[in-house]
Amino acid sequence: MSERTNQQFALQGLEWAVSHVKAVVGPKGWTDDPRVLAPHLEERRGLFRGATPVMVSPADTGEVAEVVRLCAASGIGVVPQGGNTGLCGGAVPDESGAQVLLSLARLDRIRELDAAGNTMTVEAGCILADVQAAAADADRLFPLSLAAEGSCQIGGNLSTNAGGTAVLRYGNARDLVLGLEVVLPDGRIWNGLRKLRKDNTGYDLKQLFIGSEGTLGIVTAAVLRLFPRPRSVVTAFVGLRDVARALELLDRARAVCGDAITGFELMSRICLDFCFRHVPGTRDPLEAEHPWYVLLELQSGLAGTGPQECVEEALAAALDAGAIEDAAVATSEAQAYAMWKLRESIPEAELREGGGIKHDVSVPLPDVPAFLDRATRAVGEAVPGARVVAFGHLGDGNIHFNVGPPTDADKEAFLARWGAVNEIVHDIVASFGGSISAEHGLGRLKRDEIVRYKSALEIDLMARVKAALDPDGILNPGKVVRRALSPGTGSGCP
Ligand code: FAD
Ligand code: ZN
Repeated sequence: MSERTNQQFALQGLEWAVSHVKAVVGPKGWTDDPRVLAPHLEERRGLFRGATPVMVSPADTGEVAEVVRLCAASGIGVVPQGGNTGLCGGAVPDESGAQVLLSLARLDRIRELDAAGNTMTVEAGCILADVQAAAADADRLFPLSLAAEGSCQIGGNLSTNAGGTAVLRYGNARDLVLGLEVVLPDGRIWNGLRKLRKDNTGYDLKQLFIGSEGTLGIVTAAVLRLFPRPRSVVTAFVGLRDVARALELLDRARAVCGDAITGFELMSRICLDFCFRHVPGTRDPLEAEHPWYVLLELQSGLAGTGPQECVEEALAAALDAGAIEDAAVATSEAQAYAMWKLRESIPEAELREGGGIKHDVSVPLPDVPAFLDRATRAVGEAVPGARVVAFGHLGDGNIHFNVGPPTDADKEAFLARWGAVNEIVHDIVASFGGSISAEHGLGRLKRDEIVRYKSALEIDLMARVKAALDPDGILNPGKVVRRALSPGTGSGCP
């Protein structure tokens, strides 16, 4: 068949699929209005801008399945989208205009909250903050917490295996799930909504979908684990001379307070300066300036003054030993909020300062100081004057190592070096046995780069898993693993 005939078939397949999926979701469930589509076609850093003939928003799992079945039948790619906060280009369609965008936003019901069993069954489109609030209303805790929680969705959190600020104590998203409901690439529905804490009956299929960024299945619902709601929360802001001492503080705090330490966030001084400059209402919790800071949080099931005394004892000992320079323990919710606001405003402040080249990396905990030293030096040699903005979840060995342009630099010319700077930093990460994507996933952004850092065997296994579950490359084509889908290569219209 000529290329032209192929293209005609592809176009007919696309038109057929689009008209049929519109019929499935009904008038309330789709849009092709460019103004409505615009924010869904762009990733917020502006790195990826896609096109689509239609965005569908199914009302329930059955509609999701039917949309996927129709697209699979005509070889059309489907791109699942949650809150579109992923920042790796994973949730936006490619530029071809030949992929259907599927928003989970209308699957937003909490199906069940089982307080006695400490589980909660939620649909994929529930906003993370709403899930947290529903758990709190039942006097329970759902501990996943991150700065995008007001707009990211639980389905997106699970599909990216989100981390956040309480991983130290509660683990990543994959540790918080007991069961999943998933629409498979051929439109079948897998109901794996089990509530079991123990189940050794073969492969743990749910874990395959968690972190797969919508390339193996569309998560439509999940059974989440709930925890006792903490009776006291202690928040402290600590000034330090260097990062090695921050690790010493973590060790000391855990020795005194045990695993009640839930958050241990690192920030360099420049992060605070950016916040003070760009984010109204932020201010320094400490009197003097320090090169590094840690935001420490303890959550305890105990009420009373015990938990606060525990933190104060650990900080006093660290101060005496010269491990820390200064510390402030929040004495009100407002003070604790202000400390967290400082930490969570860093990405916004950075953006307003002019943005930069991002790295979301992890290394084994004891190697964090050496990684920061080596990477900062290497970046300084490659781009003299570049400003390293390092912050992140130190307790998990996860650093957002961002590189801002020198103050007098041409921003475009600086950003053109994105790939070269990534390679310098990621090679250093790899030399420590670290990961080049600790939190945000691969999406499109790191799909090709990961081949440099994983063994050929791992890349081959990933491609085989994709081929086994999605042989026609219907779900989120071109993300995570490279696999081109040419429109119209499916089994034809049913
Ligand atoms: P989207 O961005 O919409 O999608 C992400 C990926 O999952 C895409 O590949 C998409 O196709 C797929 N997907 C979405 N929904 C589904 C579904 N139901 N089924 C199958 N696939 C689906 N991440 C962290 O881990 N820790 C942090 O601390 C953190 N902080 C952040 C702070 C800010 C300010 C921002 C903007 C982002 C942050 N992120 C963080 C990244 C992001 O918020 C998380 O990755 C989040 O889990 C993505 O959820 P989402 O609903 O926005 O997913
Ligand atoms: Zn993070």
